[in-house]
Amino acid sequence: MAYLSLKDINKIYPNGFHAVHNFNLEIEQGEFIVFVGPSGCGKSTTLRMIAGLEDISKGEFYIDGNYANEMRPRERGVAMVFQSYALYPHLSVYDNLAFGLSLQGVDEDVIEEKVLATAKILGLSDYLDRKPRALSGGQRQRVAVGRAIIRKVGVFLMDEPLSNLDAKQRVTMRSEITDIHRKVGSTTIYVTHDQTEAMTMADRIVVMKDGYIQQIGTPFELYFKPVNLFVAGFIGEPPMNFINAKVSGGCVEIGGAKHDLGHVIGEDIKAYEGKNIVFGFRPEAITLDKQDGAFEFSANVELTELLGDNTNVYVDMNGDKVILKVDPHRTPKMDTDITFSVPYKSVYLFDAETEEVINKY
Ligand code: ATP
Repeated sequence: MAYLSLKDINKIYPNGFHAVHNFNLEIEQGEFIVFVGPSGCGKSTTLRMIAGLEDISKGEFYIDGNYANEMRPRERGVAMVFQSYALYPHLSVYDNLAFGLSLQGVDEDVIEEKVLATAKILGLSDYLDRKPRALSGGQRQRVAVGRAIIRKVGVFLMDEPLSNLDAKQRVTMRSEITDIHRKVGSTTIYVTHDQTEAMTMADRIVVMKDGYIQQIGTPFELYFKPVNLFVAGFIGEPPMNFINAKVSGGCVEIGGAKHDLGHVIGEDIKAYEGKNIVFGFRPEAITLDKQDGAFEFSANVELTELLGDNTNVYVDMNGDKVILKVDPHRTPKMDTDITFSVPYKSVYLFDAETEEVINKY
């Protein structure tokens, strides 16, 4: 059995709301797992059940092979870092870090040793005398993380810990948290609604929607092998483009025009003859040049956004709005017609009814 094992976990709140359905996940020791999904999908509820702050309505939870449903929070060996840093404003950074250990009656010498070592890992050694109000948001967040790691617990639980920081601080703290995780090695579960955080930090990501797991996988798997329309649209920025299409005569029909499927998509599509499907491709998968083994489309440029390393081009394809990522040196003019190619191998086809992916790579 894995280090943390969640078997068919369900949460039904006292008002009858079923917030989490049959959640199954095995987490290995030392893994960095991210729960990601839109607001209300059940991420925090699941995290709080793991922490012991919320009862598990149905299912079984094991920590290191031990049945843990009934364990009290402090018996679980978990530490939680919340969105709000929950620091003591009247205590110095040193005392904030030391607080939990003092309560446990740990020896002053040992506390000092641990506080200094933790402050070093977090780059807080020069700030130990300061009060939280004299720290930046990022530094406060590091103290909050420090209060968790100083306890040397087996599992860190983090609920949107970066959401109070500005965009630049978030990028810095993202890498700092993964770096701390590497140094400390504790199993970490991190909750966010931000797919970029999930992609950059996780060993494995759990994508959730409406209380159900949609897919579990590495960032690479989720990006290249999404199992359904939701995951394909949630992972990636700008998101994957989707166009309503139909399978007709073995071809994909888009906006009245038939496109040969080529060899790549082949067999899986035959069962969809005459049915509606969704044609998906990522903004970065296109080229502005003709190429073999690709669909070719024409479109009208509505808006361009130069971002530096690339330009996002918003185009209209007979009423379908899509985004293309292009080399900034080749930014097309607004209100012009362009053609672009989508390689067969970059195309995702989805069942319009079930929203599941049809072509698996
Ligand atoms: P967010 O990113 O907004 O925090 P989340 O994915 O973490 O969202 P949860 O906080 O787990 O979502 O909530 C999941 C669902 O359960 C939501 O629809 C929420 O309204 C509902 N919910 C949360 N707490 C309770 C409660 N105490 N009683 C009833 N329903 C609740």
